[in-house]
Amino acid sequence: MRFFKWPLLVLVVVFLLFFNDLLASTLGRWGGCQVSMVRDGIYLYTSCTGNTSYLIYGILGVNTVALGNNILTISSSLSEPVLLHMRAHVIQAHYLGPAYLPVFGCAQLAAWAEVKMYPANRLHDDNIMEYWADNLAGSLSQK
Ligand SMILES: [Zn+2]
Repeated sequence: MRFFKWPLLVLVVVFLLFFNDLLASTLGRWGGCQVSMVRDGIYLYTSCTGNTSYLIYGILGVNTVALGNNILTISSSLSEPVLLHMRAHVIQAHYLGPAYLPVFGCAQLAAWAEVKMYPANRLHDDNIMEYWADNLAGSLSQK
């Protein structure tokens, strides 16, 4: 007996493809964020409050996160360099699809282990996904 019937498999794949966008829009509504569209069809959720703010700042320890085609921040606006960096994360999410969050999590875990071994290093800078995003942002700024 096969575990997956094909309609269920299609449903699972479709869900996984839209999971990051679904999660971001849910967090955006949940946190009462202001929604606007930045270039390339990317949604920017600013001034996020409540549990969304707690997740972004309290748990993840950052001001801004990128999820699928969305950027969520507790700030009321983003500077151009930060926006460029976050757009690079959105491009990464396009490349990696549903694997974006697991890959980012593994990279963050590796960076965390490296910082434990070399305390002078910074967690954000040691994450290979951040290094990649900075390179992508550099090529975006030249356009
Ligand atoms: Zn980043």
